[in-house]
Amino acid sequence: AGLEAMLAKREVLGPAYRLFYEEPLYPVKGEGVWLTDHQGRRYLDAYNNVPVVGHCNPKVVAAMTAQASTLCTHTRYLHDGILTYADRLLAHFPSYLNRLMLTCTGSEANDLAIRIAEAVTGGTGVVVTSNAYHGVSHLLAKLSPSLAPIADFVRVVAPPRASLDAADNTEEAHRFAADVARAFEDLQAAGFKPCALLMDMIFASDGILPPTAGLLNEAAQATHAAGAVVIADEVQSGFGRTGDNWWGFVDAALQPDIVTMGKPMGNGYPIAGVVAGADMVATFAAKGRYFNTFGGNPVAVATGMAVLDELEQRQLPAKAGVLGQGLQAAFAQAVAGLGVVEVRGKGLYWGIEIAADGAETATARATRITNHMRQNGVLLSNSGPDAKVLKIRPPLVFEQEHADMLVAALKQALQA
Ligand code: PMP
Repeated sequence: AGLEAMLAKREVLGPAYRLFYEEPLYPVKGEGVWLTDHQGRRYLDAYNNVPVVGHCNPKVVAAMTAQASTLCTHTRYLHDGILTYADRLLAHFPSYLNRLMLTCTGSEANDLAIRIAEAVTGGTGVVVTSNAYHGVSHLLAKLSPSLAPIADFVRVVAPPRASLDAADNTEEAHRFAADVARAFEDLQAAGFKPCALLMDMIFASDGILPPTAGLLNEAAQATHAAGAVVIADEVQSGFGRTGDNWWGFVDAALQPDIVTMGKPMGNGYPIAGVVAGADMVATFAAKGRYFNTFGGNPVAVATGMAVLDELEQRQLPAKAGVLGQGLQAAFAQAVAGLGVVEVRGKGLYWGIEIAADGAETATARATRITNHMRQNGVLLSNSGPDAKVLKIRPPLVFEQEHADMLVAALKQALQA
């Protein structure tokens, strides 16, 4: 079917089904870093962190289909895939984080993390950052200021902003910690015992703000002092996205109590999870039951294992680190004098904050740049508060030639 026919049919899904671009993209095939649309046009995918080891990665597809044609059932029977997968994944965590619970989506992972935190602390009060997005469930919608007015058991603090100046970062770490401490006091005074500080390890919907090492530690101390726990949301930042390290919390030199992950974990197949220490998981289990029909099913873990194989064998996190260093310099050079407020990020996760230009607002300009780049065959998005930050987050199989294409297209779009 053509695009027109597809758009007409789309109404069946209702108005909440929102798409990128004024003229929606209609891809029919993915391969590596490329998407092909219904007219046979190829696009460099510089946006998609889900197919982390490449669209339709042949090894992942082979593992997935082999398992699907052998056994796929619910998760009430034992299968060795889930045990092997848990061992393999936990090997990428510090030893105190030694239990894995599998879900299907990042939302379910965050939801479960909050339930564990509630069981451990006996509290319900949660602190999040100003424009955070943590998921789609009823609970998480209330915890996600970017979606809706937040609930009475939630307080919002401005996310920390790293700078190049070490003294400024020390100040900012104090400021963030003081805000977090005040938020928990406020919750306590309102009758909500502190439960958790839930935060991205690169503040995504807050405008792609990467924390530098040490920026979050004082806030974590303030959280523990209030009797709450720290939940690191690695749904976007995890699995080597930031280069070298597998997790943003390692970059930030933070020791979270609970870690959640999803998106890239199954290269597109739904698998997500929560990692925490044995004591916390035992406390949770003593208070209630948890069961997830599809979470960690045989196909999900076979797929997830193939993703781990690719990330490990091809050393994709380390490659993302190298590419990221080059990108930093290349972006800086490309955007100089072209109306950009700031370029920030690391590895293969970058935010480029666009400035207003005369009568054109930053939001309008960022949207125009995003569309221009699409016309020139490069996909990214604009997000963050007011959608004025270009979001660049390609599959980790990105190569130097792709980075060069991206930077050239960006420069052209900024000049247009
Ligand atoms: N946390 C963050 C930081 C996210 O970006 C998202 C998804 N955009 C989620 C949680 C929720 O994940 P999912 O859509 O898989 O439920």
